[in-house]
Amino acid sequence: MTSKTNAITSALSGLPAIGDDLADFYRDLHAHPELSRAEQRTSEEVARRAKALGYQVTAGVGGTGVVAILANGDGPTVLLRADFDALPITEATGLPYSSQTPGVMHACGHDMHVTCLMGALKLLADARASWSGTVMACFQPAEETGQGAQAMVEDGLYDRFGTPDIVLAQHTAPLPVGVVGAHPGPAMAATDALRVVLHGRGGHGSRPEVTIDPVVMAAATVMRLQTIVSREIPAADAAVVTVGMMRAGTKDNIIPDDAELRLNIRTFDPGVRTKVLDSVDRIVKAEAAAAGAPEPPETSVIDTFPVLNNDPDALSRTVAALRETLGDDRVFDPGPVTGSEDAGIFATAARVPICYWMFGVLDPALFGDPDPVRGLGNIARGQVDLATIPGPHTAGYAPVVEPSITAGVSAMTTAALTWLGTSR
Ligand SMILES: [Zn+2]
Ligand SMILES: [Zn+2]
Repeated sequence: MTSKTNAITSALSGLPAIGDDLADFYRDLHAHPELSRAEQRTSEEVARRAKALGYQVTAGVGGTGVVAILANGDGPTVLLRADFDALPITEATGLPYSSQTPGVMHACGHDMHVTCLMGALKLLADARASWSGTVMACFQPAEETGQGAQAMVEDGLYDRFGTPDIVLAQHTAPLPVGVVGAHPGPAMAATDALRVVLHGRGGHGSRPEVTIDPVVMAAATVMRLQTIVSREIPAADAAVVTVGMMRAGTKDNIIPDDAELRLNIRTFDPGVRTKVLDSVDRIVKAEAAAAGAPEPPETSVIDTFPVLNNDPDALSRTVAALRETLGDDRVFDPGPVTGSEDAGIFATAARVPICYWMFGVLDPALFGDPDPVRGLGNIARGQVDLATIPGPHTAGYAPVVEPSITAGVSAMTTAALTWLGTSR
């Protein structure tokens, strides 16, 4: 065993002693979810805990963001990131520590990210004799809206606290607890969410000939938009175009003036992204013109996330360490996923690599086997009906408290120590 492996093993030996406290912290966060940019209580709780661990804590970075620094001599600066906002969903897990805030739920597992990072900060502080460098923990608001990472960077994150050498981040996944997935290269899709307003001319439903019907215009537009991926994008490239919202009218016999569409577009390649966005623009305008719209449609951006690009060399170093800690067969490559994530902004803003991985948090029994690796095999063989598994952004997403915390703390601590320097 190398001295680094020894340092990791020794740091992780402190985990069982803090497990109960972390589980309490997790349940408390889960019961008190807060929406993007309103994470006041969460921010205060995080700052209080990080301070108690001996970190130098600054709150209010980019809104409710919290930066916690532990400077421990010469060596690399390692940015560890956890997002902490929740979603506008009414929880239906039936868990005793369910959300106490009506209509808001930690349905993306960000409460687990915070808990695991706090656990890693504790282990790293306790093990400071075995490493050198600087731990820079970023607890980030507003990931769900794609605003938080950018807000922290724009608030002078790197001018105020120094520039990291690497960014490390993790996310819960609807996989058996115990497995970790990491994909080199473009790992998470870029998202562009657009709002399109189509203008017609309303009137009585009995006399369509004197109107320009925006409902028909919208319907034709939705159908034509579906030809972008099927007819314009090469089969080897990936893209998703979803019209998730379509709104027009008030009553069956009134033709409305306008119709609104909301589009969600996922891509992995900048060229494909530009192509899809150009095609959307062309189709929306052309369908309006074809309908004789009195004025051209208006398109505005709701939010946008860049591609998350895992640095292949950095990731392979991190994955090798994760395999050693978690077990060789427990770390796999899930391929690129069409979810999006703004953690990559921390890396692109600092021009440094990012390593981002997913860790399973669901009861292995859901996957037909108590062994998580065999559960993963069941998924690969199509033997698990994934429609029955409540995933992130659903009211039933229910990570098991343990061993999810153990897995997440172990992964984050291992990755951090892999990139921090070895002590003198
Ligand atoms: Zn989410
Ligand atoms: Zn998330």
